[in-house]
Amino acid sequence: MKKVQGNDSFQRINYLYQVSKYISEKNPALSSYYGNLIVSIAKKNVLKIHPDIKRQMCKKCRCTLIHNVTSTKKIKRKNKSKIIEWVCSICDTKKALPIDKNKDHILWVDKSEAVVEIIN
Ligand SMILES: [Zn+2]
Repeated sequence: MKKVQGNDSFQRINYLYQVSKYISEKNPALSSYYGNLIVSIAKKNVLKIHPDIKRQMCKKCRCTLIHNVTSTKKIKRKNKSKIIEWVCSICDTKKALPIDKNKDHILWVDKSEAVVEIIN
């Protein structure tokens, strides 16, 4: 069986992400700690954090953002386009993501060229 490069790290990131999300309601500081670990593992092993994970993390304190628990979510208009704004309730950092239907933005991981090889 062929091995995926950085497989151990991906498993560790996956585990830490789940723990970080689970603990964020009870202990946001611990959630931030696990979030920081995810970023440092990815940096050390030169890996990309999956956008779904990355978008759920506060960019400053790395706490997992959950609506009405560790953050508040608002839909705003900015230059005719809609954005979703997350405000972290721990460090008050804002994170904005575009949510426009008209724009055909596709994540890189969803594009066909992102798949180099399928390993079974
Ligand atoms: Zn934060």
